[in-house]
Amino acid sequence: MRHDRSIELAPSVRPQFDYETLSALPEWFVIVARCGACGHEDELDRGAIGRRFGKTVELDTLPMRLFCRPPCGNRVGNRLFLRKLAR
Ligand SMILES: [Zn+2]
Repeated sequence: MRHDRSIELAPSVRPQFDYETLSALPEWFVIVARCGACGHEDELDRGAIGRRFGKTVELDTLPMRLFCRPPCGNRVGNRLFLRKLAR
């Protein structure tokens, strides 16, 4: 029997984060993005992400939606990190 959607049964990428979506991420985490080309690091504005992609956006999908600031403009190999705010 053939499954047209069998690719979904064999995920090749394990979840990168303990929290799947932006809305599930506690407020004391800061999302940091690092460019895969120039190494530029920047904190992401959670509010801006929520407005642009929706609060239920999966964190795993964010790196491929991001691109580095000009003149770099790279959007390949970008990584996300979570940093805890000091409380
Ligand atoms: Zn860059």
